[in-house]
Amino acid sequence: MEKCRYSSIQTLGTLDGPGVRFVLFLQGCPLHCGYCHNPETADINGGNEITLDEVMDQVIRCKSYFGKKGGITVSGGEPLLQARFVTRLFQRCHEEGINTCLDTSGCMYNADVERLLAVTDLCLLDIKMTNDEDYKNHIGCPIAAPLKFLEMLKAHGVDTWLRQVIVKGINDSEQSVGKFGRLANAYDNVKLAELLPFRKLCSSKYEELGKPFPFAQYPETDSELIKNLSRFIDKNVQP
Ligand code: SF4
Repeated sequence: MEKCRYSSIQTLGTLDGPGVRFVLFLQGCPLHCGYCHNPETADINGGNEITLDEVMDQVIRCKSYFGKKGGITVSGGEPLLQARFVTRLFQRCHEEGINTCLDTSGCMYNADVERLLAVTDLCLLDIKMTNDEDYKNHIGCPIAAPLKFLEMLKAHGVDTWLRQVIVKGINDSEQSVGKFGRLANAYDNVKLAELLPFRKLCSSKYEELGKPFPFAQYPETDSELIKNLSRFIDKNVQP
């Protein structure tokens, strides 16, 4: 039986891709981003199991809400860790005429991931920092990994939205944001480059888990700063 380990499901999400979407948050992530707002998804053995048929039953019940733009988004955690399951899920969604979206850090690439890209309509790719040192210090992989992933998205012709959480004192300089904007411009398949504010709503999750919140000392990012920095990005309007 095809099944996955998942953390939660949001039946009518509006923040993870275009339109109204069914969002499946998978369990397990090899990274340790300092601002991670889903620390409960880290352990690949945590969460609960659900079968492909059970997920599809729920997706189909939501289908009438999706409209022209909506569909399914698989997020996490890191969905690439369960790429085979996500591939089967996206194939089933395509059979039902449902748009598929993958929300990923792009931290790994292998034959299973390659097959997944073939059935992915849209990718939300986090380019979390703009230099290798920050990636290694605050994220836990080299910047080369998501950059390679972006190349593979281009090779497969997958429409892509790049996203970056802005943290004051780390990646909020004009120089850094400009670099992010130029990266987006260099790829025709990138349709949007979006800056997101760092928020601390997740603090209580860390307390519950008994884990320190790595970015506790950084201030939240206000929406005015995001608006100002977005001026340095050409592709800043949702298509
Ligand atoms: S990739 Fe996502 S789930 Fe994984 S640590 Fe980073 S923010 Fe958290």
